[in-house]
Amino acid sequence: MTGDSTRSVHEAEPFDERTGSLTTPIFETSTFGFRRAEDVPVAVGGFGEKGYTYSRWENPTVAILEKKLAALEHGGDGAGFSSGMAAISTSVFSFLRKGVHALAIKDLYGGTYALLHDILPEMGFATTLVESSDFGALERGVRKNTRIVYIESPTNPTLKIVDIRKAAKLAHSNDAVLMVDNTFASPINQNPIELGADVVLHSVTKYINGHADLIAGAAVADRENVHKIKMMRRDFGGTLDPLPAWLILRGMKTMAIRVRQQNVTAMVLAEFLSTHKKVARVHYPGLKAHPQHQLARKQMKGFGGMLSFEIKGTTKETMKFTESLKLATLAASLGGVETLVSQPYNMTHTQLSAKERALTGIPETLVRVSVGIEDTDDLVEDFRRALADV
Ligand code: PLP
Repeated sequence: MTGDSTRSVHEAEPFDERTGSLTTPIFETSTFGFRRAEDVPVAVGGFGEKGYTYSRWENPTVAILEKKLAALEHGGDGAGFSSGMAAISTSVFSFLRKGVHALAIKDLYGGTYALLHDILPEMGFATTLVESSDFGALERGVRKNTRIVYIESPTNPTLKIVDIRKAAKLAHSNDAVLMVDNTFASPINQNPIELGADVVLHSVTKYINGHADLIAGAAVADRENVHKIKMMRRDFGGTLDPLPAWLILRGMKTMAIRVRQQNVTAMVLAEFLSTHKKVARVHYPGLKAHPQHQLARKQMKGFGGMLSFEIKGTTKETMKFTESLKLATLAASLGGVETLVSQPYNMTHTQLSAKERALTGIPETLVRVSVGIEDTDDLVEDFRRALADV
């Protein structure tokens, strides 16, 4: 088995015998023509394996990205989507049936939280969201009709760790699938399928593309489950377009070296913040003081480029801090080469009520950091200077 960087560069991109082109072409076409009418049903039934029909169903550039993602996430196949939320909602709907119950942790990305906490119950589907760092709560949440267990690890924005191996066992003992949003870790730092998960979801917008210049998503699973998800995608229509797929293929080639650098800088920054007198608390799974550090060591290959911390001060002072940073930008999103900061309470987690945010550990003074690839010393200096302004 080759390493992550080798796969990021070479997987699914064989030498082009016809032209010798080093990079994959962009098949920017909506539809595909046929010379022989008898080939039509073969292509339609084959989902890209036996010819292409229409780019909402399958496209050769997108298919190469899907195979590369599947290799990096150790799955049988992948499905590309126009956004992370399209990947998540389409995948969840692929496993929902009348009478099915979905169980999830509470600390979810805002859009996923809205889907599971509000939208599905409004449609008549039973869902339960439980405390993320208490595995017993997940166990107690299982019902006879639970067919979906949905988790994120590390969680957004407080970097709690959920035991993926145990969650997979729990789901399988109840004939349910385990879906894991692996966006925060990226395939470089964690491979949930290796830990027993059935479906891995990504906001490809983040570390996989890595350049904060497009929106995309993906699901990776075994071939059977990806087929199921692709059938739903074909009709829900959130397919990825070939042009962003090509940009992602380009971005992905540096994913391993980007993410490994981000792991290093995040650790240094987390350690710096942990000793700073104006910082009340730091959430980073790489810190020995993190309550689930040992679990993170067991299931992650690296601790990631995401961290969050609470400023000792007021909401206004926290806002001032985010404005004072010169290298880091106050912006939503994460996983790009530029360092970004946000206050989750007024940006990424507005779908939660103030009470829900308090229960989840998201005070107004919490700052989430997505570490970029700037030089570590420059970044630490930026934070040191901005904290002095608080
Ligand atoms: N999952 C996580 C953990 C996220 O952070 C995000 C977006 O921030 C999403 C899913 C949704 O992805 P997208 O914005 O690409 O739809």
